[in-house]
Amino acid sequence: MSAPKVVVRHDRDAYAATLAVLAALQLPDLTGKKILLKPNLGRLAENDRGIITRTVVIAAVIDFLQDQGYRDISLGDSPILGLRSEDIFNKAGVTELAKEKGITLLDFDQAPPAVLEIPAGTAIKKIKVFNALSEYDYLIDIPVMKMHMHTQVSLSLKNLKGLIWRAEKIRLHQLPADAGALCGAKPLDVAIADLSRVFHPDLSIVDATIAQEGLGPAAGSPREVNLVIGGTDYLAVDYVAAQLMGVDPAKVHHLRLARTICGCDTVPTVDPENYLAWQVDLDAPPATLDFTFPGIDLEAPQACSACMSTLLLFLKAYLPRVKLEQLSDKTLKIKVGKGVNPGGERELFLGNCTYSASKNGIFVKGCPPVSSHIFEILSENDMIEGEFTQKNL
Ligand code: SF4
Repeated sequence: MSAPKVVVRHDRDAYAATLAVLAALQLPDLTGKKILLKPNLGRLAENDRGIITRTVVIAAVIDFLQDQGYRDISLGDSPILGLRSEDIFNKAGVTELAKEKGITLLDFDQAPPAVLEIPAGTAIKKIKVFNALSEYDYLIDIPVMKMHMHTQVSLSLKNLKGLIWRAEKIRLHQLPADAGALCGAKPLDVAIADLSRVFHPDLSIVDATIAQEGLGPAAGSPREVNLVIGGTDYLAVDYVAAQLMGVDPAKVHHLRLARTICGCDTVPTVDPENYLAWQVDLDAPPATLDFTFPGIDLEAPQACSACMSTLLLFLKAYLPRVKLEQLSDKTLKIKVGKGVNPGGERELFLGNCTYSASKNGIFVKGCPPVSSHIFEILSENDMIEGEFTQKNL
């Protein structure tokens, strides 16, 4: 098998960099084909924060396609729970862009889902997805480069999670602990790798013009990187993108597993050859997190940063709404990670590791759990006020 080709361009002008990458790739003739663009538009965010794909990059992809005479172009995403695509598209300027370019905008969650079987899946055997996915001939994945507190990085493969229907995404966080036992990775990594068995983007264009470092995917910091990375082998693109963010691709579990699944472990050929001169070592999510909040008694002897970062962001957003006055000493006891002690009735046990200790307490499953589910469980136990309102967690 010949090595896949990946193109990298460095330019402060994001539009020019995107066009330069597309021009350097030998793309097939797409005349008469239905083209679907899948940027990262899963969160309500400003354009230049490294949280969503920048509109300028999307615009360059559309202009390139339309310059070739391709007219049947659609763009869509399915956001994280609690958000509406319409609001995200409006805030990002994508609604206006679609009108200007004459392309179709899709909310992937609008219609009931299709179910895809994943017979050889390790962690997941079937998945509910955007129902019209199979009607498209050419899928263009346009992620934004991010560090990620749960999956190390978020690039082309991780961005495909947006093809999963609504709350079905959360199922990937709630798999049994042994779902990845054979692979030495977390169940979530294995499930994301399983997606590579059924989702096959034809082209990936990574927006690394403004990336996100630190506590990604939404609570980190933007970092100007000024790169666009593209290729027709999306796993090869992710391999090169990981290198350029200072991460060893072999240590990104979901990417390593997906490359094993497809049998494509060849090192890509990169244009230009000296692309690593543009490497920017992005700050990783913190390996350990230590924090205190008034009214919270935390026991976390061996907790991963994935659970701790979820908890940190949850408490920042929702602690004022937790009904502490109902609890003894007006304190909520929270236990996270392996080795926690069994506890009493109104204690919160967070994550699959705590299951066996949680017999008398309140258990939130997940590895790691997601904020909306923590909120839901507290709500069921009358321990929090109001409705869940997504705050980019
Ligand atoms: S601490 Fe959380 S993320 Fe780590 S293994 Fe346990 S449940 Fe999973």
